[in-house]
Amino acid sequence: MNEGSIKLFGYVVYMWNFLFPRYCILCGARLTRHEEHICTGCLSALPYTNIDDTANNRIEQIYRGLLPLQHATAFFYYNAEESRRIIHSAKYRGNPHIAEYITQLMVKEKIPANFFDGIDFILPMPITNYHFSRRMYNQSYYIARGVSSVTGIKILTDAVKRKDSKETQTHKSFIQRMEISTADFQLLRPDVLKGRYVLVVDDVITSGATTRTLCELLAAAGVEKISVLAMAYTGTYNR
Ligand SMILES: [Zn+2]
Repeated sequence: MNEGSIKLFGYVVYMWNFLFPRYCILCGARLTRHEEHICTGCLSALPYTNIDDTANNRIEQIYRGLLPLQHATAFFYYNAEESRRIIHSAKYRGNPHIAEYITQLMVKEKIPANFFDGIDFILPMPITNYHFSRRMYNQSYYIARGVSSVTGIKILTDAVKRKDSKETQTHKSFIQRMEISTADFQLLRPDVLKGRYVLVVDDVITSGATTRTLCELLAAAGVEKISVLAMAYTGTYNR
């Protein structure tokens, strides 16, 4: 592009933003052309976990005993209004691109680069066909896209299926229906996963039961190393 084209492009972008203003989903402030979804002020005020690869990593402790686990972390605490609104927007309000955008920023700025060393595949936490048909997207896939666009690591979307409840719950008691088990997932491509290092991504880690169950299934299938990355973690956060 020559200098004239760059000036023209800048003017077109300026006019586009003038005619179609975009607003921060948290505070409602008008976004600048360099911002997306969330303004810089709201972004810097998020309750970041700053949990990385340290001995006191509270998220890794959830998965203690799961031998192939390498690292586990989440970007921010869920226990704050701003966090819940971001997750809600990504998950239920048809705005999964916000998950991709925030993940890109976090992977670039908050997560130590060596977190991703040696990872072969990113595995988005699968959702059931029932949830997919209601939402028309899997929010975890957009988190995976955010990681992949920065790190270049390939996303695997067809390796594991999350079974619909009618497929798994017919013979379960009420208590069993509340619990997740490896029977809720089906490994479709164990050949691809065997001996590999897989990063499981999910939107929110609560008890870790769902990710842990998937990780157990992966480990049983011969996955050599596993790490877990989530947008939010429900552990205690005090402002
Ligand atoms: Zn804002």
